[in-house]
Amino acid sequence: MRIEYWCKYCKHLVGEVNQPLWSYADAEVLLGFANLSPVEQRDTIDYNGKDGTMYVKTVCDYCQDAVESHPELLVEGNPLQ
Ligand SMILES: [Zn+2]
Repeated sequence: MRIEYWCKYCKHLVGEVNQPLWSYADAEVLLGFANLSPVEQRDTIDYNGKDGTMYVKTVCDYCQDAVESHPELLVEGNPLQ
């Protein structure tokens, strides 16, 4: 399957992983999502069963820096707007 990491703030593609032999369950375990609660999993992962792509919400370096230097921006929901 294919795993894409998208920044949840600026909506940019942060990285991608292609593991054709992985099932959804493999990806969940190998990428550490099995440790998340069901609510966290739902917030973090979108899975497109048709083409076997998993979309993972993450935070890119740029937004990570922005949030750390301006945590108050999180209140607005999007540090870049
Ligand atoms: Zn970002």
